[in-house]
Amino acid sequence: MSWFGTKTFSHGVHPPESKDATCGLPIRQFPFAPVLVVPLSQHLGKPALPVVAEGEEVIRGQRIGRPDGTMSVAMHAPVSGLIKKIGLTPSIQGKMVPGVYIEPFPASTQEVAEGSPCDVDSASPDEILAAIQEAGVVGLGGAAFPTHIKLRVPEGKHIDTVIVNGVECEPYLTTDHRVMLEQREDIFQGIRYILRATRAEQVIIGVEANKADAADGLRAIVPDDIPVRVEVVQVKYPQGAEKMLITALLGREVPSRGLPVDVHAMCINVATTAEIGRLLPHGRGIQERVITISGPAIGDKGNYRIPIGTPLRFILDTVGVSDALGRVFMGGPMMGPAASSLDIAIVKGTSGVVAFTTEETRKTSRQKEYPCIRCAYCVDACPLYLNPSQLGLLAKNHEYDRMAAEFNLMDCFECGSCSFVCPSHIPLVQQFRVAKAAVRKARAAR
Ligand code: SF4
Ligand code: SF4
Repeated sequence: MSWFGTKTFSHGVHPPESKDATCGLPIRQFPFAPVLVVPLSQHLGKPALPVVAEGEEVIRGQRIGRPDGTMSVAMHAPVSGLIKKIGLTPSIQGKMVPGVYIEPFPASTQEVAEGSPCDVDSASPDEILAAIQEAGVVGLGGAAFPTHIKLRVPEGKHIDTVIVNGVECEPYLTTDHRVMLEQREDIFQGIRYILRATRAEQVIIGVEANKADAADGLRAIVPDDIPVRVEVVQVKYPQGAEKMLITALLGREVPSRGLPVDVHAMCINVATTAEIGRLLPHGRGIQERVITISGPAIGDKGNYRIPIGTPLRFILDTVGVSDALGRVFMGGPMMGPAASSLDIAIVKGTSGVVAFTTEETRKTSRQKEYPCIRCAYCVDACPLYLNPSQLGLLAKNHEYDRMAAEFNLMDCFECGSCSFVCPSHIPLVQQFRVAKAAVRKARAAR
C-alpha cells in the first residue's frame, strides 16, 4: 500500500507526526493510584448525580453516578475500594467540579462488575441507546459528547453512512492505532450495535495512510454479516475532524452551521466504537480507557489502559519525567488543552498525555509576535475556508459580534492549522477561542 492515501480534503497542514516512539508498543495496563478521583462532569451536558455516599465500599465497574436527564451519562467506579470523599476536584478546564474520591482496596482481585447485557440481535434502537447512556459512553476522541445523543437520528432525518473515525491525525497520539490493531473484534461488534441503532445502510472505517498495518488487519477480518469496508485517507491534519473526513470519504460538504446528518452521514471515533462492542455484551460501564503517554519529557513512553480518575501527577511519577518538565498537554499538542494543574485526573475524553521539556516549551510559547504581513498562509491552511487573517485583526479590536456575523467565527473548530503556519506567530486559535466564548456568553445573556 502506498504511504499516501488518495482521498482527502482541501487545505490543511502537515505537522511532524512524532508517532514512532509509541505506535509499535502494545497496550499495557496501568497500576492503580493510591487515590482515584472521578469527576462527575466528564462530558458535554449535565454532570452525573452521585448514587453512592462517603464511607461506602464499591466494586470496580459499579455505577457511582446516574445520568441527570437526557444530556448526561452514568459514571462507574474505576477501582474496588472505599469512597473517601465526595467533593470538589480541579477539572482539565481549570474549574472546580464535583468528584468522587476512591481509595483502592489493596488486596482486591479488582474483577469488573457485570451488569445486564444488551443483546445486539434483539434490542431495539432505543434500548441500545439507553444501554450506551447507562454504560457512560462519550466520544473518546476528545470531544466527550454523549454517544447516545450523537447516535440518535433526528425525527424525519435519514443516515445512509456511518464513518468510524480511525484517522488519529494529532501528533504523538497512537491510542486509536493500537486499538485498531488489538481490539478488532470489539470494533466490529460495536459497529453491529451502531448499525442497529442508526439503521444506516453502510459503515466505512476511515484510517490514515500512516496506519497501513491497522487498515490491513481490519480488512483481513471484515465480517460477512455487516456492510462495512475499510478506506485509507491521506496523511494530513486535521483529517480526523468529522467534516473533513466526510468530505474525504463521501465527497459531501457539511454546510456551515450544519451537522453531518444534514448530508446523511454520521461520524464516530474508533475507540468509542470498540468500547461499545466491549462493554454492552456484558452490561458494563466505562471505568478505564487507552491513552498514549508520550513527548520529549516522558521516560517510559507507551500506550496504557488507565483507570478513569487516575491523577496526572501519579501518571508522570510512574512513567518518569524530565527534571525540566515544561508544558503537559491533555490530548495532542494541536488541539489538546495544556494541563492547568498536576492534580487533574484522567477523564473519558483524555486520549493522550504529551509532555515537553521547559526548553521546548520556551521555544514554542515565547515566540515574539509580529504584525500580520497578509501572506495568506493561514487562509490556505484553514480546512473550512475561513479567513483567519481577517478574524485575527477583528479579534484584536474585540469585534466579536462582527467576527461571528460576517466571518463565520462559530464554524471554527479550533484545529490550530492557521496558528501553525503563521510566520508572524500570531496566536490566532487562542484569539478565536476567546472570541467564541464571548459570543456564546453574549448569546446566552440575550
Ligand atoms: S483554527 Fe479555526 S480558523 Fe484556524 S484553521 Fe482551524 S478552523 Fe480555520
Ligand atoms: S498567516 Fe499570519 S501573517 Fe500571514 S496572513 Fe495569516 S495572520 Fe497574517
